[in-house]
Amino acid sequence: MIPELSNPSVCMKDPQRVEEILLAMQKAGSNTLQVISDFDMTLTRFAYNGKRCPTCHNILDNSKLISEDCKEKLKELLHTYYPIEIDSTLSAEQKLPLMVEWWTKAHTLLIEQRIRKDWLAQVVQESEAKLRDGFQLFFDHLQEHSVPLLIFSAGIGDVLEEVIRQAGVFHPNVKVFSNYMDFDEAGILRAFKGELIHIYNKREGALLNSDHFQELSHRHNILLLGDSLGDLNMADGVHNTENILKIGYLNDKVEERKQSYLNAFDIVLLKDETLEVANAILLYITGKK
Ligand code: C5P
Ligand code: MG
Repeated sequence: MIPELSNPSVCMKDPQRVEEILLAMQKAGSNTLQVISDFDMTLTRFAYNGKRCPTCHNILDNSKLISEDCKEKLKELLHTYYPIEIDSTLSAEQKLPLMVEWWTKAHTLLIEQRIRKDWLAQVVQESEAKLRDGFQLFFDHLQEHSVPLLIFSAGIGDVLEEVIRQAGVFHPNVKVFSNYMDFDEAGILRAFKGELIHIYNKREGALLNSDHFQELSHRHNILLLGDSLGDLNMADGVHNTENILKIGYLNDKVEERKQSYLNAFDIVLLKDETLEVANAILLYITGKK
């Protein structure tokens, strides 16, 4: 049906079910489709040439906007909390308060650095951030078919927007829910706006943005992409979901986490740095295959 589903990176617990969902979504057509995707390590690469790629936060953490002393502190936080984020022996309930702690401490440090808004574009340009191979087709195809793309990220909205703007794919069909920076009149970071989004409260984030989902209420077929089990809740604000196909990138601690990902996502992509499978699915659903 879709040859890319036989790629070596693809794992499915129930291929038959995936086929049924895909058929139903293709039959309904692109007018009923919306795509909801996580950003860091889902639309962006996890690694390139054997080296880890940065998240939105890491783009700032590693930049010239941050003092050496603060860089050390941010690195320490990363080394403390990232292993917790990907620890398969801890439940989401156990991780949640620790993730809030991570985000809160990191944001406090970033605010102390008095980051200037007008430097963000340059910092992103100089960073090692990389969208996954196939991103151009992914974004352009959705735009051409007028399919709305919601990027739902616990990263930093200002940085994320800059990444996709510089890549030339911040099309009008793209909407972003994320943590946005609040700058004072002089353009210096003084806070983060609104409720914090971390990896385990995307459900609450979705429900807070019910207007967006209301506008798209005729689009009851969803393609969801994520790399964390917390990303599964990104579609919780959608009204009357008819079909949902969940694609999960499993980038790290693959063996330990494989079973839980297979139970949660319809398609699991093991150490796959591309958007090839998502693109093949989109072409199939929108009738180009
Ligand atoms: O876009 P997404 O929702 O994936 O963004 C969240 C990611 O940002 C997490 O997977 C986490 O590893 C990363 N993060 C980070 N530094 C922080 C907080 C989160 O790199 N201070
Ligand atoms: Mg992610």
